Amino acid sequence: MNDFVPAAKPVIGDEEREAVDRVLRSGMIAQGPEVAAFETEFSAHFVPGRVTVAVNSGTSGLHLGLLAAGVGPGDEVLVPSFTFAATANAVALAGATPVFVDIEPETFTLAPDAAAAAVTERTRGILPVHLYGHPARMQELEAIAASHGIDLYEDAAQAHGASLNGRPVGSFGQFAMFSLYPTKNMTSGEGGMVTAATDEIARRLKLLRNQGMERQYENELIGFNNRMTDIHAAIGRVQLTKVDAWTRARRNNAAFLDANLRGVVVPPVADGAVHVYHQYTVRVSEDRDRFVAALKEEHQIGAGVYYPIPNHRLPSLASYAPGLDLPETERAAKEVVSLPVHPSLSEGDLERIVTAVNVLAQAGG
Ligand SMILES: *Cc1c(COP(=O)(O)O)cnc(C)c1O
Repeated sequence: MNDFVPAAKPVIGDEEREAVDRVLRSGMIAQGPEVAAFETEFSAHFVPGRVTVAVNSGTSGLHLGLLAAGVGPGDEVLVPSFTFAATANAVALAGATPVFVDIEPETFTLAPDAAAAAVTERTRGILPVHLYGHPARMQELEAIAASHGIDLYEDAAQAHGASLNGRPVGSFGQFAMFSLYPTKNMTSGEGGMVTAATDEIARRLKLLRNQGMERQYENELIGFNNRMTDIHAAIGRVQLTKVDAWTRARRNNAAFLDANLRGVVVPPVADGAVHVYHQYTVRVSEDRDRFVAALKEEHQIGAGVYYPIPNHRLPSLASYAPGLDLPETERAAKEVVSLPVHPSLSEGDLERIVTAVNVLAQAGG
């Protein structure tokens, strides 16, 4: 029997372990010099010219980013429904109303026309998601935001290193959040990085993550404890030196799958876009759930479904969207399957994935 090919596999090496040990031995383990260095290195690597603020999770990053950008009660923020619930949760936690917008069928990202149609006088901003590592249509969304005098933000949780026409994700919005959860393209254990378009937003992010304090015990506003620890930052700093090689491996794996899969719709890449393949997501028109079960049980291949229930139909969020119909979102939720694409796949693993998918797609179609 073949070994199981997992859907995701965080890569943690000796360097990460040594970095953690170094911090533990230093005796200073809360937010300190490692976090400061990680912030500087992260912006230099991914979004040169922007200040980056580290927090304890991607979700915290979205939440604080929205608060720092001035989003609050009475505001509406346009979000996709086809994403992880953290996107809309952050809007709701900021006291604002998530307004769900449909996606484009090709890239699964926010549809600019649908976003334009959803703008009201209460819309404060647009929060697209660079889903699966493919950049959203930022140029069109930027134009829509400018024409309505509203803001643009970015959920770049899955898109470290992605770009559009030479511009990196994380450089478009008033703020952008990158997640460092273990299954993302790089990790710090848990963590999030927020890039800020202005010094004012960066300053508010730093206040909000630390009880509203810049100077000890002179709290300026009501804030959280959303700090990253130096232990996590030390892991993230090492991962930052490896992530480009992993991204190349993801892209090579995706190119192999593109060239060899039959009977499923492989993920298109928009003109000018660099896709970093957090997920390699195909569409299956036959019974998707049976397809996923057969990949696992008959072929020992871990496939994921991200996301089977659109946000606007989740019990937690449905009250924001009574009677809403998002046809492309519904169709994607029924059809998507994410195949392993992570950098630890061997050539043999890739061949097994191709054989299994092609056999099952033929049997189903
Ligand atoms: C992972 C993820 C988040 C949340 O990040 P955490 O670090 O897990 O809090 C938000 N949005 C999207 C699209 C994600 O994939």
